[in-house]
Amino acid sequence: MSPPDDADGSTPESIESLVCPDCGATFLDRWRCSCGSPLEFDANPHPTSPSPPDPGGFDVRAGMWAFEEFLPIGGDPDDRVTFGAGPTPIVDADRAGDESEETEEADEPWNCRFKLEYVLPTGSFKDRGATTILTRARELGVERLCEDSSGNAGTAVATYAARAGIDAEIYLPASSAASTIRAIERVGADAVPIEGKRRAATDACLEAVESGSAWYASHAWNPAFHAGTASFAYEVALQSGWEVPDAVVVPAGHGTLLLGAHRGFDRLREAGWIDRTPRLLAAQAAGNAPVVRELHDADAANRGGDNDAAKGIRIENPPRIDGMIEAIRETGGDAIAVTESDTRAALGRLRREGFDVEATSAVAPAALEAYRERGILDPDEDVVVPLTGRA
Ligand SMILES: [Zn+2]
Repeated sequence: MSPPDDADGSTPESIESLVCPDCGATFLDRWRCSCGSPLEFDANPHPTSPSPPDPGGFDVRAGMWAFEEFLPIGGDPDDRVTFGAGPTPIVDADRAGDESEETEEADEPWNCRFKLEYVLPTGSFKDRGATTILTRARELGVERLCEDSSGNAGTAVATYAARAGIDAEIYLPASSAASTIRAIERVGADAVPIEGKRRAATDACLEAVESGSAWYASHAWNPAFHAGTASFAYEVALQSGWEVPDAVVVPAGHGTLLLGAHRGFDRLREAGWIDRTPRLLAAQAAGNAPVVRELHDADAANRGGDNDAAKGIRIENPPRIDGMIEAIRETGGDAIAVTESDTRAALGRLRREGFDVEATSAVAPAALEAYRERGILDPDEDVVVPLTGRA
């Protein structure tokens, strides 16, 4: 059975419809608007309690679903597709004693908090979007879905699809790591390697979607994914006692985490649980930095050549680029392109210090240093940096 394409009045009230911010059209479900724009949920639920709950007494036993009052999905707890994960740890980045070290080779202190997203069940922050998008798929009665990804999103969607009992096919570049293909096949999903650039995997996935054989569980397009990544912001706020940091530095390819963080902090402010939102500072891969190009220029986006280490965020045409730029502008943020050598240097240091992350994750800590060097971040500002994926 394919899910219905348009609202027809016979849908259970618990399924929220989607709306196009550009032309106003509404749908029960589509992967994008007929005008080509990404869709959003029509409803933006948030708690009505006038003050935030006591952080010490906030019940996190439901994991990411502890913030269910903010979610337009999963109203029936029995429908939720979850491994119970969350919140992820948030820790001081610096080792004990780092500040007193005076040796010449000592690194500057990170002087921030890391949020360890790589400890989630499928090894990256993509779990946050996978739990909500698979819950949405289950609500819609989806039996077969597809997704295109070069790594973490494909693994997360395949794994949560297995949890939901939904068939999945994951299109990915033929050059993807063998370990990624194994992780997808291990849970019974079909890994479909496609020759050519990353874009070719998207095109092949869209063919399956257009033929009606699979529902598009896209981390780039589907607002159900971003409703889930917003839980990153809820957790940061909770773990900071509802006193949010001055800034968050996030890696940005499709902008899945940037957009989720923006939504999440906005919802918290609308609910009155926090009184300001952090500046959102994006870290892109040099050579594939369309947001940097838009906010600055091509030289800033390409400095230092292609960053081949940051494979997870090398996205040339993210569908939600307008939303990414809005998230940065609205919060007084910025975007910079990170070189491969800076990425590798940060990666080596992270691993030496016990953070077992993949190379793409090192882009954000490398960007943190660059933001400070350029004076965009003051040394005493409170900053949170997610470490997004495990090695
Ligand atoms: Zn539209």
